[in-house]
Amino acid sequence: MGGGEQKYVQEAFDTNWVAPLGPNVDNFEKSITQFLSDNVYVAALSSGTAAIHLALELLGVNRGDEVICQSFTFSASANPIMYLGATPVFVDSEKDTWNISPKLLEEAIEDRIAKGKKPKAIVAVHLYGMPYKVDEISQISKKYDIPVVEDSAEALGSSFNDEKCGTFGDIGILSFNGNKIITTSGGGALIAKDEVIKKKAVFLATQARDDAPHYQHSSVGYNYRMSNILAGIGRGQMEVLQNRVDQRRHNFDFYKKHLAHLPEIEFLEEQNAYYSNRWLTCILTPSFAIREKLRLALQEDDVESRPLWKPMHLQPVFTEFPHYSDGTSEDLFNRGLCLPSGSNLSENDLERIVELILTKI
Ligand SMILES: *Cc1c(COP(=O)(O)O)cnc(C)c1O
Repeated sequence: MGGGEQKYVQEAFDTNWVAPLGPNVDNFEKSITQFLSDNVYVAALSSGTAAIHLALELLGVNRGDEVICQSFTFSASANPIMYLGATPVFVDSEKDTWNISPKLLEEAIEDRIAKGKKPKAIVAVHLYGMPYKVDEISQISKKYDIPVVEDSAEALGSSFNDEKCGTFGDIGILSFNGNKIITTSGGGALIAKDEVIKKKAVFLATQARDDAPHYQHSSVGYNYRMSNILAGIGRGQMEVLQNRVDQRRHNFDFYKKHLAHLPEIEFLEEQNAYYSNRWLTCILTPSFAIREKLRLALQEDDVESRPLWKPMHLQPVFTEFPHYSDGTSEDLFNRGLCLPSGSNLSENDLERIVELILTKI
C-alpha cells in the first residue's frame, strides 16, 4: 500500500458509503480514465474475470459461438468464454513479445471461417506487462471484422507509441487482484470506447435492473460492481502506480545488469515504441532441466520463483478445444522462469537473489 488508501477507506466509513457504489467508485473510475486516456469510459468491477465476462457478452458472444483466445495466458482470460457456453479456440504466441502470433491468428481465423464459423471475438493479452503486436492485431481485427477484448490485467502502466495498454481493444479490461501491479485486494475494470457500452456494463454488473419503481428485469444480470470500500484502496493505489512501475522496471534492469552476460539466461526485450510495466521479470534458460535446477536451487534458499504460465491448449480442462500452435508457448513454459518481482524488493533482496543465481546456475 502507498499510504493514501486508508484516507479514502476512512472517508467511506465516515460517510457510510459501504456499498457497491459511492464517491470512491466514481473517483476511482475518474482517476483510471485520467491515467489511460480522455477517450475511454471505465466501469469498476469486482474482478478482471468479471470484466472479461461482461466484455464478451457486450460484444454479442452467445452459446455455441467461437471465441479466439491467446493460449499463453492465465486461465482467467479463457474461463469467461466457457461461462457463456461458447467454444474457445486457442492461438499460440510469437517469440518477439510472447503474445498472440499475428500469423497464427490469421491462419486460425481463415481456418475457422473455412470450417463454417467466423469467430465472434479475439481475446489478446499483454502478458507479463509486455504489449502484444498492437498494430498487427488491430489490422487483422479490422480485416475480418472481429472485435478484440484486450486483456490488460497484467499491463496497467504499459504503453505502445505513448498510448496506454487497455485502450487498444474494442473493449479493454484491467485487474486489481492482490498479485497485480496495483491492487484493491480484488477488483477489476472494463474499459469502453463509448459511454453507452460503459452504461450497459454497469447495468449488467448491477443485476440488470430496468428503470421502474419496483424491481423489474428484462435480462439476466450479474453482481459484478466494485465495492466503495475497495475503490477507496484503488484511489490510493492510483497515486503510486507510476512509482510501482518504476520499481518493477528497476527489478528488471537490476537482474539484466547482473545476469545478462550468462549464456544460460535470456531476457525478453521491448520492441520499438514499447514500454512495459515489467510486472514480472521473466527469464528463459536453455532447457527444462536447467530451468528446474535453478528453480529448485532458489527454493532451497527460500526464494520463490515460478515457471511461466502453462498454455491453455495444454491444460486438462481445455484439451478438447481447437488450437493453432507451433510449439512456441510450450517451449516458453518449459524453459522460462518468473523471478521474484515484488515492488517491495530491497536492493539487498535483489543482490541476494542474483548472487544465488550466479552460484547455482
Ligand atoms: C489476473 C488476470 C486476469 C483476471 O483478473 P482477476 O481480477 O484476478 O479476475 C485475467 N487475465 C490475466 C492475464 C490475468 O493475469
